[in-house]
Amino acid sequence: MKVYGVTGWKNAGKTGLMERLVAEITARGFSVSTVKHAHHTTDVDQPGTDSFRHRQAGAGEVLLASPHRWALMAELRDAPEPPLEALLARLSPADVVLVEGYKTAPHPKIEAHRAETGKALLSAENNSVRAIASDAPVESPLPRFDLDDTGAIADFILADLGLVMAAPSEAASGDLTPPRLRDDCFAMPQGVAWVPVNEALSRLKSVLRPVTGTETCATHAARGRVLAETAVARRSNPPRPNSAVDGYGFAHEATGEGVQRLPLVAGRAAAGQPFEGAVPAGHAVRILTGAILPEGVDTVVLEEDCAVNATHVAFDGPAKLRANTRKAGEDVTEGSPALPAGHRLRAPDLALLSALGLGEVTVQRKLRVGVLSTGDEIVPSPAEPALPHQIWDANRPMLLSLAEGWDYAPVDLGHVRDDQALIATRLDTAAKECDVILTSGGASAGDEDHVSALLRSQGTLSSWRIALKPGRPLALAMWNGTPVFGLPGNPVAALVCALIFARPALSLLAGAGWTEAQGFTVPAAFSKRKKPGRREFLRARLDAEGRAEVFASEGSGRISGLSWATGLVELPDEAVEIAPGSPVRFLPYEGLGLR
Ligand code: AMP
Ligand code: MG
Repeated sequence: MKVYGVTGWKNAGKTGLMERLVAEITARGFSVSTVKHAHHTTDVDQPGTDSFRHRQAGAGEVLLASPHRWALMAELRDAPEPPLEALLARLSPADVVLVEGYKTAPHPKIEAHRAETGKALLSAENNSVRAIASDAPVESPLPRFDLDDTGAIADFILADLGLVMAAPSEAASGDLTPPRLRDDCFAMPQGVAWVPVNEALSRLKSVLRPVTGTETCATHAARGRVLAETAVARRSNPPRPNSAVDGYGFAHEATGEGVQRLPLVAGRAAAGQPFEGAVPAGHAVRILTGAILPEGVDTVVLEEDCAVNATHVAFDGPAKLRANTRKAGEDVTEGSPALPAGHRLRAPDLALLSALGLGEVTVQRKLRVGVLSTGDEIVPSPAEPALPHQIWDANRPMLLSLAEGWDYAPVDLGHVRDDQALIATRLDTAAKECDVILTSGGASAGDEDHVSALLRSQGTLSSWRIALKPGRPLALAMWNGTPVFGLPGNPVAALVCALIFARPALSLLAGAGWTEAQGFTVPAAFSKRKKPGRREFLRARLDAEGRAEVFASEGSGRISGLSWATGLVELPDEAVEIAPGSPVRFLPYEGLGLR
C-alpha cells in the first residue's frame, strides 16, 4: 500500500486538506483509506457513549457495529502506543493510505500551512516533507501548492507515489514513467559555504524521488528488484492445517491421561498425498510432516514418543491439544500484505512470494545508471598502451560494478577528453538513455574542471562544497531533466562520495527509499587527532581482535588502500582524539552494498 502523510501545525488546515484529498483521489478511481493520529482525546473518547462505558468497565477490545459501519477499538491502557507500521498492517488493502499526523514517521508527506499559524515545520524537523500546501508564499526550497488547489496537490502526491495521474482506465494500459525531477532541485540556499555531510544527505533525501516507472517481473527472476506495490498473499501459508512432524494423529478430545492405546486406521497422510475420509474419534492415523490434518485429527504425537504394532499405537497421555500441528495461515493469511512497496527483493523474499502463490510481481523498472570518465590524461582501457603522462581509467570499472552490485542497470558512457563540447554531446545522449549519470573528474572549480564549468554554463549546477575528507566538491546538476552526480576524479574520493552520497540517492531514485549506511562501533587499533569542521572517512579493516586498523597512508591517490580495506571508519564532524581502544564507527563495505 502506498502511504502519504498530511502534517502541519494545529489549525494549519490538515483535516480540511485530508478531506478534499480523499474526495479527489477516490474520484480518480483509487481506493483510499485514512489514518488520523491525535495526541489528545478523540471522537470515541466522549464519555457517556455505550462503547465508552464498555471500555471504562474494562473490556480489552470493543467491536462497535451498526448497519453503517463497524470499528474495532483496542485498549492500550498501560501498553505503549504501537508504531504506525503495526497499525497500517491492520488495514485492508487500498491503493493509497492518507495519514493525518505522525509527523516524525518516515513516509512522504505534504505539509499544510497557513500564514496566520506561523512558520512551517518543514524539513528542519522532518525531511520526508515533499511539498507545502499553503495559503501564502513560504520560504522553502520545496514545491509549494495553494492550499485550496486540491487537484494539483493530488497530481503531485500520485506522481510522487508512482501511481498514475490519468484516469484509471489508462492506468491499466501499460508501464508508466513518473514526471521528471525539477531542474532546480539541487539548488542550495544562497550564501552556503561548507555543507555538513548530514545536511547534504538530508537535502538529497528531500529533493529526490522515484523516477523509474513500473513493470511486471517473474518472481524467480526478481532478486534485487524493488517492489512497486505491496505484495498481497494470494493464499494463506500454510493453506490448510498440517503436521509439523512424522508421527500419529488423532482427535484430542477422545484421549486423556496415562497410557493411550488407539487403534490405527488403514492408510496414511503424507505431504502431497492427503488422507481420504475421516479418522473416527478414539482412532489414530499414521501422519508425516507437511501432510494436511485429515478430518477428525487435531493433534499429533511424535513417532519417537510412540510404540506401534500392526494394529495399534500407544503413547503416554495427556497429549497437548494441537501439539505438533501448524494452523492454517499461521505464517501469513490470504489477502494480507506480505512485503511492502519499496522493498528490495532478496533470496528469502522469493521463497515467501512463491509460497504465497505470487508468480509475478510489480516492480520498479531497473534504474539505468550511466558512468562517464573525463580527463585528458585518461586512457579508457588497460588493454591499450599508456604513455608516462597518461593513466588508465580506474573509476569507470569501479563505478559500473558498484551500480551493478546495487542491482541497477549500469550504462557504460565511456571516456571523454576535457573538452566541453564533447562532454556536452555525450551528456545529451546519456540523458536519453539513463535515469541518472555519474561522472568522475573535472568536478572542482579550477581551470581544468570542465565538467563543472559545462554544467554551470549549460546545465543547472549546484556545486556542493561538502565538509568531507576525502572528497572535494560534489557537483550536482540536472542535464536535460536527468540528475548528474559529478564525482571527484580521485578514485579514493570518487568511491567515498559514491558510497556516501550516490548510494542512498540512487536507492531513492530507484523507488527503494533512502538507505542509511550501516555501521557498528568497534575499538580503534590506531591513534589519530582530528580537527573540527569536517567528516572524515578512513580506509579500514578489522584485525584479529575485531579492532579497526586503518591504511598506513591517508593519501587520496592510494588506490591500493581501497583494496586493502574491508570498510571505512567514519570520524564525526567534531574534533576527536583517538587512541588505541577508543570507540570508532566502522562501516563494512558489505553494509554499503559493495561486493
Ligand atoms: P580531477 O578531479 O579531474 O582534478 O582529478 C583528480 C585526480 O584524479 C587526478 O590525479 C586525475 O588524474 C585522477 N583521475 C581522474 N579521473 C580518473 C579516473 N577515471 N581514473 C583514475 N584516476 C582519475
Ligand atoms: Mg581532470
